[in-house]
Formats: sequence, structure tokens, C-alpha cells
Amino acid sequence: MKAITVEPGKKGSVQLEDITEPDLRNGSMLVEAVATGICGTDVEIVEGNYGWAPPGKSRLVLGHESLGRVIDPGLSSGFKKGDLVVGIVRRPDPVPCSNCAVGEWDMCRNGLYTERGIKEIDGFMSERWRIEPEYALKIDPGLGILGVLHETATVLAKAWEMVKSIGQRSYWEPRNVLVTGAGPIGLLAALGGVELGLDVHVLDRATAGPKPSLVKDLGATYHSTTVSDIGFKPDVVIECTGVGQVIADSIMNVGSGGIVCLTGVGKGGSAPPNWAIADIAAAAVLQNNVIVGSVNANKRHWYKAGLALAKADKKWLERLITRRETPENFKQVLYRQPDDIKNIIQFSDI
Ligand SMILES: [Zn+2]
Repeated sequence: MKAITVEPGKKGSVQLEDITEPDLRNGSMLVEAVATGICGTDVEIVEGNYGWAPPGKSRLVLGHESLGRVIDPGLSSGFKKGDLVVGIVRRPDPVPCSNCAVGEWDMCRNGLYTERGIKEIDGFMSERWRIEPEYALKIDPGLGILGVLHETATVLAKAWEMVKSIGQRSYWEPRNVLVTGAGPIGLLAALGGVELGLDVHVLDRATAGPKPSLVKDLGATYHSTTVSDIGFKPDVVIECTGVGQVIADSIMNVGSGGIVCLTGVGKGGSAPPNWAIADIAAAAVLQNNVIVGSVNANKRHWYKAGLALAKADKKWLERLITRRETPENFKQVLYRQPDDIKNIIQFSDI
């Protein structure tokens, strides 16, 4: 079968190749791939900066944003042939740490977790894949191809859960949220804010292309200024850029008792932010602010992400998928162009 594979650590090694049928050790349920989404982590792996092959192998099947159709559910899995499913990405570490032991693998304490398409388990960019039934979820059949957005939505299901649970430390009546970055994570963060009934504001550098109208059509407000120029102090910031200056500005501008949830993964930066660490810390202390990082998702977040997507306007979600290509042409969608939001590789018809 065809699969998109990479030799982790080796830039330029990504290719479409023929590999053997999926390994039974990856699960009793056999699934035909419908589509996979591409995100920054895939690009990091392709660039040779991240990723680990399965033990004893040199190459890794890429892909962690899945959508597939069950071919063979196996014995008493609770699934049936033809079900549209998505696969959970992370598996608990084998020790296990206390969090993995209770199914909170997203909070793994020892870093020995594994991840489909990223860390030591083959991913979903192959014509067929296997999965353990307990790590698969049925999607709302009405979503169709939009189920490929499920993994991205889990990031926000967890982020919003974090924000709401931290909010309960005191009396809390949030009215608004600022989302920084209008990529797929930012736009789904904005959708989450709208579903919670908040006044949603989204900030991004883009002044043209699909982002401003996608935000407006959610009933939210689009800003292409800096965080300090948005004209109010947000109750919540969901930071989705990973850019040092935007992070620092978010922490300095969030309202008293505010929460800044960091979901972007950045690195370095061309210039240090305008704020010194002690000043940022003082601002947080003097206003009882919380800065929290959020990554990955456990099964509860996967379930909640499915509910959030099923509730959303399908026509709006469709606009998030900006380009789709066949596996043969995967290189054309690997790197996002300025107007791209979510690019996908489509393996079979829905
Ligand atoms: Zn663990």
C-alpha cells in the first residue's frame, strides 16, 4: 500500500512509497484512510527537526490528523464496517506515570509517551491503518470530510477546559476573549469562544485572504493590529502564534484576574520582546493572572471536540479546508501558502 514516510532527523527524506500492510500490533481494527490533515508538526518532522521512527525502524509513516472508514472492526469493538472514525494520537507511557495511569496521557509526566505519526508509532498517512478500538472515535456522520478537523479541535477542547477550570479559583464572569493567530487552531479557538457565548476577538497579521471574513462570519471581531492596540483588556487570551512579542504583549494586556492560555509552540525570535521577565511576572502577580500552557488531548477532550464540531456551522467549517491533494501530490500542500488555513491529503472518496 502507498504511504507517506520520512526518516526522522533527515531533511529531504519524505516520500510516497510502497510499504507492507499495517502492523497488527497497532490495533485490531482495520481502517481505510479517507484524509489526513497537515500541520506545523508534520513540517517540523519533514524538515528533520522533530520526530522518532518506531523502534527498530529507520522510517516513520507521517500523519496524526486522521479520518478513515472502518473496513474490519475486529471482534466486539463497538464499531461496524463503514463507520467514519478518527484516531487518538498519543498513547500512555509504559511505566506508567501517575497521569498516564489514569488515562490523562496528555499530562504525561515522564515524556515516555508515544504518538502516532510523531513519536515511535506509525501515523495515518497510509492507504490503510490499524488502531486499537479504544483509541478510535466515531464522528458525527453529518461531518463527512470535516472530521479531518477533529484532531485540531481537540487542542481547543483541552484549552477551553483548562481556562474554565482555572476560572473557578474565584468568582468569574468572563465576557470576552482575544484569540491571537487566525490559523486553524486560532479559528477553532474562536469558534469555541462563540459557542460559549463570549464576545470573541481575533488578531492576525493578515489583512486580506479568507481570515477576516471567516472571523466576521462567526460574529466575532477581527483585528490586524498589535495586542496593545485592540482597545480593551481581554478576560481570556488564547495564544495561538507562538511568537515571543505576541505572547509578552498578551500577558501584559490581559485584564485583572485574566487567563492567558498558550497553545502556540514557537522558538527563538529575531528580537527579544519589549518586556523584561520580571516586569511580565510582576504584571501577572499584581493582577492575579494565570499563564497556562496546553498541549495534546486525552479521550475526554477528543469526545468534547466531536461535540463542538457537530454543533458548528458546516458551511463555515468547510471554508477552513483551503486545499486538498492526492497522496501523489502531497508536496504541493505540505507547506502552507499565505491564504491557506488547513490543507489536507485525500486518500479516498468520502
Ligand atoms: Zn506518562
